[in-house]
Amino acid sequence: MPAPILPGQTVGIYGGGQLGRMLAQVARRMGYRVHVFTSERDSPAAHFANHVTVADDSDESAFRAFASTIDVLTFEFENVSAASLKWVPEQVPIRPGPQVFWTAQDRRREKTFLQQHGLPTPPFALVDSREQLAAAVVLIGTPAVLKTAAGGYDGKGQAVIRDASDIDAAWHAVQGRPSTLEAFVDLACEVSVIVARDVYGATAVYGPIENHHANHILDLSICPARVGPAIGAAACEIARKIASIFDLVGLICIEFFVARSGEVLVNEIAPRPHNSGHLTIESFATSQFEQQLRCVCGLPLGSTAQRTPAAMANLLGDLWFPLAPRWEELLRYNETYLHLYDKHEARPGRKMGHVTVCATDAETAARRARAARASLRQDAG
Ligand code: AMP
Repeated sequence: MPAPILPGQTVGIYGGGQLGRMLAQVARRMGYRVHVFTSERDSPAAHFANHVTVADDSDESAFRAFASTIDVLTFEFENVSAASLKWVPEQVPIRPGPQVFWTAQDRRREKTFLQQHGLPTPPFALVDSREQLAAAVVLIGTPAVLKTAAGGYDGKGQAVIRDASDIDAAWHAVQGRPSTLEAFVDLACEVSVIVARDVYGATAVYGPIENHHANHILDLSICPARVGPAIGAAACEIARKIASIFDLVGLICIEFFVARSGEVLVNEIAPRPHNSGHLTIESFATSQFEQQLRCVCGLPLGSTAQRTPAAMANLLGDLWFPLAPRWEELLRYNETYLHLYDKHEARPGRKMGHVTVCATDAETAARRARAARASLRQDAG
């Protein structure tokens, strides 16, 4: 096994968003140097980096120059081009490796991978044309959801088909691009599990974490999830299995649908820290970000013991309108931790920050997190 990457050495982070920002914060705390590669100017991660390269990953000379300064490459964003990873010098480990990105970048490859390994997903069909869509609707039944294979996130590039008369509109919504048609699951709830896997194959697991969405965007996460032990154990086992199939080094988040029938089905995989894991910063012995750093640097895993129940509420740009959020109101709540990502422009639906609330039980944490967020509105009274 190669030598560990130690404080003083340089961690390369691909991507400049809030996940990279929180990873960079931990890395700096632990004495690492951080070099961020991002196409975005003045990105959230840049404020905690020692160096930032602002370029597109198709820019070979910029990517090679970046890669020549780092001791390990990791990611906060999965849409890296496979070609650019070939420009990383051989002695610089890429963690996690390219295989998992190739799979996770495309919903069709992801679903096919899961099916090939006997892992449970909603029934689905691959769709390349309007005719195939019509046939898939017959096969899968309704209601069903059509989703583009690539480039869709937070509900973008999706359309629900309730009956055959929705087919044309749905095909138009995905702009005729390669897609999957999935059966619409009668949901009891949604949960996620985050697995950290080290260079020796040891794993540590966070979750299950209970997730609530609004307008297809994560709104609230609660841990521990209010699901029975059998559902929790099934989700954790599937998540560990996926990490091991990829021989993953780093973090992977698996999002699940829990059907009313009790079935636990994989929705999505993301080989990076995840929005639902932000509450690990205050409520677990080791945060997801520190765990990612430890794994990719070849260091021992930290404990994933949960110190206290917690809930996390996302703060979207909508809260900035019509008047700026009242931070002083939110900060009146006990055990409430505010995170803002230093994004200069608030836009509806844009993730600007989050708030985590710790409490003695999950219900109280969830209630307070919602109330703390609601207190930000100028019109909250
Ligand atoms: P996705 O972008 O695939 O994660 O979908 C965003 C959200 O839409 C999910 O978190 C669910 O709340 C809902 N959704 C997506 N696909 C399905 C499905 N097949 N059945 C039920 N709900 C779904």
